[in-house]
Amino acid sequence: MTDRIDGEAVAADVRADLQSAVDSVADRGHRPTLATVLMSPDPASETYVSMKQRDCEELGIDTRDVELDLDEPAEALFDVIEELNRDDDVDGILVQSPVPDHVDYREVLERIDPEKDVDGFHPENVGRLVAGYPRYKPCTPHGIQKLLDATDVDTEGKEAVIVGRSRIVGKPMANLFIQKAPGGNATTTVCHSRTEDLAAKTRRADILVAAAGIPEFIDGSMLSPGVVVIDVGINRVDADTEKGYELVGDVDFESAAGKASAITPVPGGVGPMTRAMLLYNTVKATGRQADIEVELP
Ligand code: NDP
Repeated sequence: MTDRIDGEAVAADVRADLQSAVDSVADRGHRPTLATVLMSPDPASETYVSMKQRDCEELGIDTRDVELDLDEPAEALFDVIEELNRDDDVDGILVQSPVPDHVDYREVLERIDPEKDVDGFHPENVGRLVAGYPRYKPCTPHGIQKLLDATDVDTEGKEAVIVGRSRIVGKPMANLFIQKAPGGNATTTVCHSRTEDLAAKTRRADILVAAAGIPEFIDGSMLSPGVVVIDVGINRVDADTEKGYELVGDVDFESAAGKASAITPVPGGVGPMTRAMLLYNTVKATGRQADIEVELP
């Protein structure tokens, strides 16, 4: 029997556990606040930001909504970030990517106060993660750790194979898997576009994390029986639906499910966890900013 890992249910549990932390902070006179900054040429970004804001509001986290026109100079965005850094009422700052070409995204990340960097992308936070004492774990890989834990998948001693080495998924995932800590201790392989004989690597996996951004390109023939498959991919493909497209993962679900002991669906797997872990980091940031001890799930 293949276990279909229900990311919506695990994310709901995380949110329920976070609710009491939000309430206890509010009882002490501090309302958690997340500032979202939108200056993105990708039309989907607006939807992502409004989903994140809605998640916050449902939990009682205030949001600050800043939008900049695409043709504004980079300095305008940097000024906004500086203002939010200095604002004691703002606990977390998220600049939605991508930003326009004339804005250096690396500089954007470096300008966010690392204490308010709830995405965990500031070099200081990346460094802390690599060094083994993370402040804010990036939301997607952290969410995957939670999903595995909730599914009773022990990573210790396992072969974890990650397909993709991006800054937001593949690399931090690898860093979490190799930590000498719960949810880590896995023997970890990171594959990418230059990897030779990818299938030979993926067949070694006890746990496979697919994050390449290519629709359904990992199929059952690339997997060994009993593997746990975590499909991060969210790809739009043309389909005969009302919207004219459907969302599919990086994994061919049907054939992979034939091999896997457990597998995440798309949608409804990793996506809801990424959103839940942004709330987690925001609550954590609030505790740090307000110097209040919060109990995190
Ligand atoms: P990127 O495009 O930044 O990275 C893709 C990675 O896949 C790169 O490291 C690339 O290698 C590697 N790759 C590309 N082609 C191959 C190949 N043929 N074989 C092996 N590796 C390959 O993507 P992201 O990490 O940002 O996102 C990956 C997917 O996950 C996307 O579909 C995205 O939409 C989705 N996503 C989903 C989230 C969620 O919450 N569910 C959150 C974030 C992303 P190289 O480095 O050599 O170019």
